[in-house]
Amino acid sequence: RAKASGRGMHAFYDLAMDQERRDRRQLESDLRQAISRNELHLLFQPIQSIDEAAILGYEALLRWTHPVRGNVPPDVFIPIAEESGIILSIGEWVLREACRQAAGWDPALKVAVNMSAVQFRLPNLAGAIASVLDATGLPPARLELEITETALLKDRVVTLDILRQIKALGVKVVMDDFGTGYSSLSNLQSFPFDGLKIDRSFIAGMDHDANARAIVRAVVSLGRSLNLPVTAEGIETQAQYRMIVDEGCAHAQGYLFGKPDTGPETFIGVREHRVELKKTKPRKERDT
Ligand code: C2E
Ligand code: MG
Ligand code: MG
Ligand code: MG
Repeated sequence: RAKASGRGMHAFYDLAMDQERRDRRQLESDLRQAISRNELHLLFQPIQSIDEAAILGYEALLRWTHPVRGNVPPDVFIPIAEESGIILSIGEWVLREACRQAAGWDPALKVAVNMSAVQFRLPNLAGAIASVLDATGLPPARLELEITETALLKDRVVTLDILRQIKALGVKVVMDDFGTGYSSLSNLQSFPFDGLKIDRSFIAGMDHDANARAIVRAVVSLGRSLNLPVTAEGIETQAQYRMIVDEGCAHAQGYLFGKPDTGPETFIGVREHRVELKKTKPRKERDT
């Protein structure tokens, strides 16, 4: 009997695994068509500056509306896109679309774009970024790239080289989901980051878990010593907000300030404003 039921379980697992594999393969082939079928769009979540009590920019978050399944979350399709290599074309689409939209916002606002580890292995990533900036007219200083630590592990020398090229364009790079990777501290030492984003899991634990709060405190103080602004992700409550203000976080992001949405209104006077900026620039330079 035991043997029979054992075999039965095996068959059951095999079936379930087959189904999962088929599902994944199906999603992968659907994802290949997603760009050309206009199924992708970006939402934008505000990033709040705590000191200035103002929105300093928006993070672009990718959404996929599958024709049959509806919304598929990025945590499901990004890994599939990465394993299949589709992330290269999707990542380029995201960057271009984010920069195109941000170019129409108030010029004081930045846009943050998530980059996959796989994109960081492209030898000419900086060139690709430069041509997107050129095509969309977004000033490089208004673009910030977010990378998670897994992106950095593969080949440190190549990664450092690519990072330096990107920074030479005037684009900022921040470490996303800080604290969840394998070697956060050595990555901080080796790579020229412009900021850190503390992972939401630490923020979520802060109000009931003294360890989580201690970690947040330590990360903020580390950021301060290294001169890197720290962003707290996933702020949902006033209590969490008060705590990160007390700890001295520079920036905050979370449902308390705004869920991912359509982003800011397009800045009506953008053309005039640009002309004016150009006109006033030489005068400013003379003043200083
Ligand atoms: P992430 O870059 O760490 O983005 C933050 C995630 O937390 C987003 O989930 C956002 O919607 C969610 N979030 C923000 N505030 C709150 C909050 O207060 N409470 C809760 N519960 N959640 C909050 P989302 O949009 O599902 O994205 C998940 C992850 O997928 C992102 O994590 C990022 O790693 C990846 N991702 C999203 N868009 C892209 C993209 O264009 N390219 C790449 N390579 N990855 C992306
Ligand atoms: Mg991010
Ligand atoms: Mg994050
Ligand atoms: Mg994340």
